[in-house]
Amino acid sequence: MKPTIVLVGRPNVGKSTLFNRLTRTRDALVADQPGLTRDRHYGIGRVGERDYLVVDTAGFDPVAKEGIVHEMARQAEQAIAEADVLLFLVDGRAGRTPHDEQIAARLRRAGRPVHLVVNKAEGLDRAIVAADFHALGLGDPLPVSAAHGDGIKQLVEIALEPFPADEGEAAEDEGPKVAIVGRPNVGKSTLVNTLLGEERVIAFDMPGTTRDAIAIPFERGGKRYTLIDTAGLRRRGKVFEAVEKFSVIKTLQAIQEANVIVLVLDAAQDISDQDAHIAGFALEAGRALVVGINKWDAVDDYQRDRLKADIARKLAFLGFARFHQISALRSQGIGGLLKSVDAAYAAATANLATPRLTRTLQQAVARQAPPRHGMARPKMRYAHQGGMNPPVIVIHGNALESIPTSYVRYLERCFMDAFKLQGTPLRIQFRTTH
Ligand code: GDP
Ligand code: GDP
Repeated sequence: MKPTIVLVGRPNVGKSTLFNRLTRTRDALVADQPGLTRDRHYGIGRVGERDYLVVDTAGFDPVAKEGIVHEMARQAEQAIAEADVLLFLVDGRAGRTPHDEQIAARLRRAGRPVHLVVNKAEGLDRAIVAADFHALGLGDPLPVSAAHGDGIKQLVEIALEPFPADEGEAAEDEGPKVAIVGRPNVGKSTLVNTLLGEERVIAFDMPGTTRDAIAIPFERGGKRYTLIDTAGLRRRGKVFEAVEKFSVIKTLQAIQEANVIVLVLDAAQDISDQDAHIAGFALEAGRALVVGINKWDAVDDYQRDRLKADIARKLAFLGFARFHQISALRSQGIGGLLKSVDAAYAAATANLATPRLTRTLQQAVARQAPPRHGMARPKMRYAHQGGMNPPVIVIHGNALESIPTSYVRYLERCFMDAFKLQGTPLRIQFRTTH
């Protein structure tokens, strides 16, 4: 399971700046997707080949006790409880404050590894800064500059050191790992129980340590699947039910862990920011995705039309995914949904042969050449596959840095059509040879 880093600290110490820096490499991947807005509190970061989750508690003050800030304090508490590692930020320019001491006292009881991070440390005398913050009783402070990027890579390496990197993919014959995600009350546990109830569950009791996702293999229509059970669902007796508190972190961990995401929407409700954010994370993580519009039994024609328009507007960035109208309660539309899960998994893990990729690239360029940029005309020579789930297509050539996003989207469509890659996002990378 991907480790989760949670950023804590009083306002203005630079948590948002650090969050942006830790997740920035991923921004480019989701930029320019119509309708997609980022959730500024949760993101995916990467060092080397490792992904991790980052949570910014900026705006959720862990020591506030009243009013609206109380709900934010609750969210901060939940994030602290679910963190694998906490980064406690302080401001090296402002020096140690009473508020820092209050937070430090809270974090010493967190039962989680805490690293004390002195931000805004550019140009400061390290020895003086270290002496001041040492008094917080959280060990040696790590000086960084979030704004300038100094010390960040090292910080992440120290923070992630206790968490082993994932080994390769699980054995193929277990079928796709599927995570059923969505906001509270959309019908996730009903869907899981419908899926598991009708068909044979291969081994219901799977051991799982606290950090492991609980994986439930099951069979349906002669095919194997593994359900990832961290999306806010817990087993009680023979059935699954939603845990009391919806957990964004657990949802994100399930998304990271799965091959295919089933995003459940409630047909009786408007598409909310939370729906869009969860969908955005699946896209950001590059996961194959199928959407189940649930409770279709409970809505009339007027609501159905309204919902279609709402989806077209707010989930436009899910153009690659199939949408199914389902009723988890009445077990309607479930077979079709699973067919799309199979198709999305096949697309996400397809082998894309170099000659055909290159031919598709040449045809795409012949139909529409990339725009000239100043004196340079980008020249794309050949393409090969650089990864799976999501499929990564690496294009080699010259002057490729200047290719605009709109042209990248055009190429994506050409590859999707040529290889019939329904249900998975696609990534295109350029390698320029000079
Ligand atoms: P948050 O409230 O903890 O999320 O803090 P922000 O990320 O919004 O940063 C607060 C202020 O500190 C902003 O004006 C940032 O530009 C500034 N800041 C953040 N990181 C650094 C840094 O490394 N050095 C300096 N000098 N300023 C920084
Ligand atoms: P979760 O929080 O996403 O796990 O949602 P639940 O599975 O607990 O469902 C929330 C409520 O929606 C329950 O009262 C379910 O009975 C109801 N529900 C779930 N699926 C359907 C459906 O397909 N049709 C209708 N009409 N109600 C449903």
